[in-house]
Amino acid sequence: GAKELGRNLWHLHAPSMNQEASERLLLENHLRRALERDEILVYYQPKIELQSGRVVGMEALVRWHHSTWGWVSPAKFIPIAEDTGLIAAIGEWVLGTACRDTKRWQDLGLPPVRVAVNLSAHQVHQPNLVERVEEILQETGLPPRFLELELTESILMQNTERVIDTLHRLRRMGITIAIDDFGTGYSSLSYLQRFPISTLKIDQSFVSSISRDGDRLEGVIAKAVLALAQNLDLEAVAEGVETLDQQAFLRDAGCDFAQGFLYSRPLPAEEFEKLLTERGHTSYTESV
Ligand code: C2E
Ligand code: MG
Ligand code: MG
Ligand code: MG
Repeated sequence: GAKELGRNLWHLHAPSMNQEASERLLLENHLRRALERDEILVYYQPKIELQSGRVVGMEALVRWHHSTWGWVSPAKFIPIAEDTGLIAAIGEWVLGTACRDTKRWQDLGLPPVRVAVNLSAHQVHQPNLVERVEEILQETGLPPRFLELELTESILMQNTERVIDTLHRLRRMGITIAIDDFGTGYSSLSYLQRFPISTLKIDQSFVSSISRDGDRLEGVIAKAVLALAQNLDLEAVAEGVETLDQQAFLRDAGCDFAQGFLYSRPLPAEEFEKLLTERGHTSYTESV
């Protein structure tokens, strides 16, 4: 019967592969309708200036809340969105939402903050990216200097000449460019001088290995990235800061900015607005 057939088919494939492929297909089908069903949201994680303890910006992070499955992790759906091209629509929606929210908070008189938005490879290679970003900034009224775009090293390494041209056009508009997860991707350092980059984000794996009793060597990569950033006149942001020891180590090593659960998890827009209202003018680090 059908049951038996199912069982036999099951044995034809490695169960894990079969399961993975069908889960992927299911996610893909639901992701296609997620935007129109208002299941896609943007959360914001504050970025703290370590010297002053002030909130100077935030990173926009996409969230998917499915009606029956609940939260689906970006680690799960971003790769699918990327492979299927769905990221084009999702990414544009995230960018538009992030710019609109940031402008609204400025109009409310909250301390001006810069929003960082992650770009996928698909978006960076889209021929009309610069025009779309320009249109979104015009529609939302957000001045370009309040927008930062985050790209990974691997994106910079594909189709390099075109990417350099795209980034120069964005930079000329006043948008800043950050390298996300720095140190985990392609490791040729020469490209740092060829791209119009403003910021290096030290990957959280290098931050999480900074610990109190541990070997001092543990923070050595974070320190090396900070020295590199200083010498190239780039801003440095530490990602995934979770402890006061990590904060102290990074501050002593000359790190400008930090993000992490020590300060705040990514928050829905209303909660981030409250955070900016209550703490935007006061030092954050004094109270942690
Ligand atoms: P990312 O851009 O490197 O973002 C940092 C990730 O670290 C976020 O995970 C954030 O929630 C998490 N994080 C922040 N502070 C801490 C901490 O102290 N400890 C730990 N353990 N984690 C922390 P999230 O939101 O799950 O995003 C994962 C990745 O998905 C992002 O990494 C980014 O590559 C991608 N992503 C997120 N939103 C977007 C988007 O709108 N567009 C695109 N293309 N990619 C996105
Ligand atoms: Mg990022
Ligand atoms: Mg990052
Ligand atoms: Mg990262």
